[in-house]
Amino acid sequence: MLCYIPADSHSGEVRAALTPATAAGFVKLGLTVQAHAGLGAASGYSDTEYQAAGVTLVSQHASALAGADVVLRVRKPPPHDVSAMKRGAVHLSFLDPFNEPDLVTRFAEASISSVSLELIPRTTLAQKMDALSSQASLAGYAAVIQSAARLRRALPMMMTPAGTIMPARVFIIGAGVAGLQAIATARRLGARVDAFDTRPVVEEQVRSLGAKFVKIDLGGTGQTSGGYAQALTPDQIVRQQAGMARVCAQSDIVITTAKLFGRRSPTLVTQTMLNGMQPGSIVVDLAVESGGNVEGIVPGEERVTAGGVTLIGHPCLEGTISYHATQVLAANFAAWIAHFWDPGTRALRLDTSDEILRGCLVTHGGAIVHPLFVR
Ligand code: NAD
Repeated sequence: MLCYIPADSHSGEVRAALTPATAAGFVKLGLTVQAHAGLGAASGYSDTEYQAAGVTLVSQHASALAGADVVLRVRKPPPHDVSAMKRGAVHLSFLDPFNEPDLVTRFAEASISSVSLELIPRTTLAQKMDALSSQASLAGYAAVIQSAARLRRALPMMMTPAGTIMPARVFIIGAGVAGLQAIATARRLGARVDAFDTRPVVEEQVRSLGAKFVKIDLGGTGQTSGGYAQALTPDQIVRQQAGMARVCAQSDIVITTAKLFGRRSPTLVTQTMLNGMQPGSIVVDLAVESGGNVEGIVPGEERVTAGGVTLIGHPCLEGTISYHATQVLAANFAAWIAHFWDPGTRALRLDTSDEILRGCLVTHGGAIVHPLFVR
């Protein structure tokens, strides 16, 4: 069975879907592994290391794609790559299927078994494959590091002979995987941290990390059976904004991570709230790619407002630590492959009664099979 890992570099992606360590594991299973030359150049893994792990490096993308039984990549493929694949092949990547109906149709028409990393169930069994979590956790860390580097203040309290430096204040909006890691990182750096989330169960987790949970009475909020936040009503959003305005105004760093599964992220920090912040403050929006939590933040842009607040709309902050983002992402791919590997036939066995597969398989056997996308 031939596994091919193309380079995602055309899309500005700096992570890779394979490390030399995971490649060695694939070879041990019995896979033949081909990767595009220079695959790990942007994340710190050299061609020599891949070759030592048993990977054949190729430069002819089209022929490698056409011959592969399994293709692993970070981002969704360009549409023509789907049509160029072998019928019956398996494709794993982030697919953004809610926003890519044409791509999903193309996968079905090309008879490719496409797997969306975003849809891997958030269960204990699938934890090792959970690429949303592995990347969100690093993004939360990177958001604090990047903001701290831009802030003209220190984060920890420092008592020096020349006077006392007060700790910086950090406000984290949304305390899921990214938010909790951001809280932990800011606390380790000595900042005073406030956090808010609409899921009441999160309050205890926020407190246990040494942060203060901001109390805002929104009435009924909750979470879906999958653990995701439920969307608020327009009235609840307005109440949340009002409740957060004072905390934003007092904060040196605001990091937003509030997302809704399969839906546009809510706007939580308005222009008026930004106007109320001190010059020199930093705002990072980790939900920028799914619509954004902060008014006026643009994906891929960093700018300073007229009021002196730096807005960071980097769509992939985990890419600033691409070595480790690649390490854990490749481990997610490897866990998926290992789960579906049949040692008897030395091939992938896609058992559609498998709970994990049912959650993440979008197209199979020439049709759209995921219930969220069947039309
Ligand atoms: P996410 O990226 O979808 O959202 C991030 C956070 O934003 C969530 O905590 C959400 O409640 C919050 N949010 C949404 N709207 C908000 C609003 N208006 N104001 C403030 N916060 C808002 O979430 P995630 O980090 O991917 O986690 C989703 C769920 O999955 C969580 O319950 C998490 O604990 C769970 N999870 C479970 C596992 C596992 O069991 N293996 C692994 C990872 C995540």
